[in-house]
Amino acid sequence: MLIIASSNGAIGIEAAMRALLKGGSALDAVEIGIRLVEANPDEHSVGYNGYPNIVGELELDASIMDGRSLNSGAVALMRGFPYAISVARQVMERELPHVLLAGQGAERFAREIGAEQREETLTEEIRAVWRKRLASTKESGDIPDLTDETPLLDLVKLTTDPERVLGTVNFIAIDSVGDIASGVSTSGWAWKYPGRIGDSPIIGAGNFADNRYGACACTGMGEMAIRAGTARSLVLYLKMGLSLQEAARRAMEDLRDLAGDYIGGMNLIALNKDGQRIGLSSRAGGSYIYQTGDMDSYQECEREVVTIPMRWGGEARE
Ligand code: ASP
Repeated sequence: MLIIASSNGAIGIEAAMRALLKGGSALDAVEIGIRLVEANPDEHSVGYNGYPNIVGELELDASIMDGRSLNSGAVALMRGFPYAISVARQVMERELPHVLLAGQGAERFAREIGAEQREETLTEEIRAVWRKRLASTKESGDIPDLTDETPLLDLVKLTTDPERVLGTVNFIAIDSVGDIASGVSTSGWAWKYPGRIGDSPIIGAGNFADNRYGACACTGMGEMAIRAGTARSLVLYLKMGLSLQEAARRAMEDLRDLAGDYIGGMNLIALNKDGQRIGLSSRAGGSYIYQTGDMDSYQECEREVVTIPMRWGGEARE
């Protein structure tokens, strides 16, 4: 059964399904779908034209996983190469004994393999939003001076903005031979501390696929998925014999055990090896999309809700 499930991938899912229908692999479908989101200038949390970190630099994270072999590739903190998912796939496929390349090493690798470069990854439009946000941290409305020595801790706290975190893209696909692949790409949390890496490029946290059981991918506050190993947990619960719904609920409920501050919540999508699908969110009103081989277009589905109490600055938040 051909099926693709996605978070925030409406612009890419039909092209991804066409690739599967032509006999393409699940990995191809995931890469094709995510690239279209990365290229979309209206999508501000993924690839080109994403929101930057607190000092105005766009740092991209992405990962891809092959459920046949559990092979994976990932990049983090990569600047200047908008198609992070393709670079992540090359990390997996080139003769290189690594899974995750970050920062300058990821950029060097991307250059070496001839990945598409786009130096002006921060457009004027996004620069303006960032400057406004930065100005709002000062009573005077001035933009704080930013040098390598500028203390950023207070700025990052003040500018953590849950509205700016939505948009990371997830794709999970099952192809005609039953292989499963999953991919995630993001510019991460807007206004993040430079060097912050989220769950998206961390295999087991924001992304996990295993042909024998299924796959899971996350969006939301990556720090939570990293601490709880969310994507891997869901697949492990499938391995332990839980149904897809039970496994997904358990993976979300595990997040309730984390002590500390959370905002932004958590969302996941998953497919099991039989092509059943699910989407969960810690907040009401969320949706995800899916398309099977016999559908002309994708369908949007509500996510089931598993609440996770939010706290920030020691206080409960909605
Ligand atoms: N999970 C992503 C991260 O923490 C953000 C998001 O999903 O919006 O980087």
